[in-house]
Amino acid sequence: MSDCIFCKIVAGSIPCQKVFEDDDILAFKDLFPQRPVHVLVIPKRHITSLVTATAEDAPVLGSMLAKANEIATAQGSPDGFRVIINNGRVGNQEVPHLHMHVVGGPDPVGPMLKRL
Ligand code: 5GP
Ligand code: ZN
Repeated sequence: MSDCIFCKIVAGSIPCQKVFEDDDILAFKDLFPQRPVHVLVIPKRHITSLVTATAEDAPVLGSMLAKANEIATAQGSPDGFRVIINNGRVGNQEVPHLHMHVVGGPDPVGPMLKRL
């Protein structure tokens, strides 16, 4: 999608601090980290949210989850982390390209609602 900021990050026209990528997914540091480790993991192909995701998207969604521990560990959260996906209006999703927040750090992450 040409006017999507995360598609622009995938295309390289908006810079990011990339921490992982493969053919299907990209992981980069959140611009406004809420914890010492705060990475966004996205599908390279535009999916708006889990509101619009279909069965066709299941492999890339699985890949995002399966990579979370490797990404968190490499970023300094080897003893666990939290995964958050905000979806649509009710989920207070701000960027309409599906993204999984991976948040953690050296200390336990306390209760988190919308603002992680
Ligand atoms: P949401 O509320 O949609 O789940 O989270 C959007 C997240 O994207 C926020 O944590 C925000 O800091 C992050 N974000 C928004 N724009 C950019 C950007 O251009 N680059 C990066 N790295 N993160 C962004
Ligand atoms: Zn997009």
